[in-house]
Formats: sequence, C-alpha cells, structure tokens
Amino acid sequence: MSVNYSAGLSPYVNKGKCGLPEKQDDHLILKEKASKLADLIKSSKVVVVHTGAGLSTSAGIPDFRGPTGVWTLEEKGETPHFDITFEQAVPTFTHRLLVEMEKVGLVHYVISQNVDGLHLRSGFPKDRLAELHGNMFTQKCQLCAKEQVQDHVSPTMGLKLTGQKCEALKCRGRKCRGMLTDTILDWEDALPDDELDMSEKFCKIADLSIVMGSSLQILPAGNLPLLTKKNGGKLVIINLQPTKKDKSADIRIYGYLDDVMQMVAESLNISVPPFKKPTICLRSSHSLPQFPIPTKKRRLTKTRTSNQTDTKSETNNDVTAKSGSKSNSKSDVIAKAVIKSSNGNEPDVNNTTENIFVKQESLDLKFSAPLIANEEIVQKDN
Ligand SMILES: [Zn+2]
Repeated sequence: MSVNYSAGLSPYVNKGKCGLPEKQDDHLILKEKASKLADLIKSSKVVVVHTGAGLSTSAGIPDFRGPTGVWTLEEKGETPHFDITFEQAVPTFTHRLLVEMEKVGLVHYVISQNVDGLHLRSGFPKDRLAELHGNMFTQKCQLCAKEQVQDHVSPTMGLKLTGQKCEALKCRGRKCRGMLTDTILDWEDALPDDELDMSEKFCKIADLSIVMGSSLQILPAGNLPLLTKKNGGKLVIINLQPTKKDKSADIRIYGYLDDVMQMVAESLNISVPPFKKPTICLRSSHSLPQFPIPTKKRRLTKTRTSNQTDTKSETNNDVTAKSGSKSNSKSDVIAKAVIKSSNGNEPDVNNTTENIFVKQESLDLKFSAPLIANEEIVQKDN
C-alpha cells in the first residue's frame, strides 16, 4: 500500500493549521541546544518521547501539515506523490537512536501518533510504546483481543474487518479463528484505552518530555506533553514548524530531527547501528517505574480530533468509547510470540527478558519479514 494512508480516512473538515512556515536554528545554536538537551536527558530519571509525522519524513513518508504535507497539498487542490510503500520504508536514524536510548535507560516511553509501524519495526519494545492512532502492520482479534503483527500493511482502515482470521492458539492447540480488524483509527475513533492510560501515567511521572516532529494539533496526543510540565517536569520541542505548545517549552529547537538527534547522540556517546531488517521487540529489559496510585480517574479525551475544531476536548472527559476501545480481562496472559524463521534459526524477536510488563492482551506475532522483496517470509512456528 502507498504511504498515503490518509486517503483512506473519512472526510474531515478542519485538519488544523497546514503549511505554516518552517524555521531553522543556525548550526551553532543547534549544537548548543542539542548539548543542553543531552544534559537534560542525562539528569532525568524518566524521559518520555512524543513522536509525530516529522519523525518519518526522512524515511520517505510525507507529513501532513508541513509545506509539502498531505493536508497542505490537499488544501491547495494538489495531490501528493509517494515513492515508497510502508513495507519499503526504513526506520530513520532517530527511530534507531531511540531504540539504543531505551536499552541504556535514557528513554523510558515513546508515545507516537504515527501509524507507519517504524517504531515497532525498528525494535523499540512494544510494552514501552503507545501507538495512539494505530499501526498499519498490526491487526487485532475481535474474539480474543490478541494482536498480530504482520509483514504487510492492513488492507483496511478505521478498525474494520480485514478478512483475515486469528491464528492464535487456544487450549488443546486449536486456533482461535476470530475475525481480525485493523488498528488504524479514523477521525474521532476512540483511542486504545490501555495505551492512553499508560501514556498519561508516564507523562505524569516524567521529568522530561521531548516532542519530536509534531505540531501537537491532534488531541489528546497533543496535550500529553503538558502533563509533564504540570507535574514539574521539563518540556523540549524539536519541530521545524511552530507548535501549539511552544510557549510551554523549556528548550525549543528548530532543526531537522535527525540532525539534532545526531548531535544529541554524540553528546550522549551513543552509537547507532545501521538498520538491517525489521525486528520486533516485545518487552523492555527494564522494569516499570513506580506509578502513584491514582486518586481519581481523569481523561483528557478519548477520541482523536483536531484541536482546531475540538475546543471542548480538555473538559470532555470520559467520552463514551467507540468500537475500538474494547478491552478484555486477560491481564494474566503473558505475551508469547513463538517465531522461527523458515530455516529454523532464532527469529528477529526479542522475547527473552524477565521484567515483563503484561499488557491486557497477549501479542501473537505472526510474521517478522525482511523488507527486501522476494526474500522468504519468516513464518510463525505452529
Ligand atoms: Zn483470536
């Protein structure tokens, strides 16, 4: 499928401010700010990263509201051109740096609005990743609520039936055979409860939230970084265009994300290996931080909207969840992805860590395939 997933969404009138002019700090200022950011990262106990479409533009996936973004061109009556497919897209330097930073305990949670699957395919641990708007490569069973990560994008969007059936094994080795749906939210679909809950928890205890490549116009994702500020943490925003929360930023960096993060990586003395092939990591090797016991349940909002049109969002708590927020009670189910490559070698899946954060549902990894066409797909061992 073309990376123009936006074409599959329902019509939506106000998509926020598009085509705002970009700004760039000069090189010396950029270095200075990157150094300060590295210092903040080193001195913080909990770091949360918020990513938007600007993270994936260097992978060839267009953003939405940049000067040549999908919605910007749409406003001009123009059609964007796409050279690659989601399957061909390769994680950027910043995607891969985040994986390394998580490994060494310098990043603790990533909240992404991107559906391109690049965080997951870069090997960022799924239990420390909230993909609030879904993932083109992930399908979910209506019956057992297990997720399956595929090697190809879903044929549908908007939480619809994909025509595929769940192959998760039940007792006595029988397959579930429930119907799978895609996980891609359409406008105003409900966000996944568990990932939104975890995002709020992390943002509240974080000393540092870093926004990367988002103009923060879509709610509730756009409001999450402020939870860190409200609880005494710092906010750093890296984005070429102005954002909704610039006034709240302790450091505001105008630069290309990969350039900035290369400087940060140098300051942190982290080397980033080249990308070889999609690798799925289910769990972080780090245990979860201690979250305070909530005194009351409050939610910014549960549906995805542009805040240009949704001025009620911050007070519109506990909106009735739509179809996408079904949860199940299988909290004791431990994710176990059994994957072997066709030649019997160990798979591209890291599922061996002991500090397990068990999500509500287990993850059934169906495939982990190389990006190169015509190479053999790594088959599930069942
Ligand atoms: Zn199932």
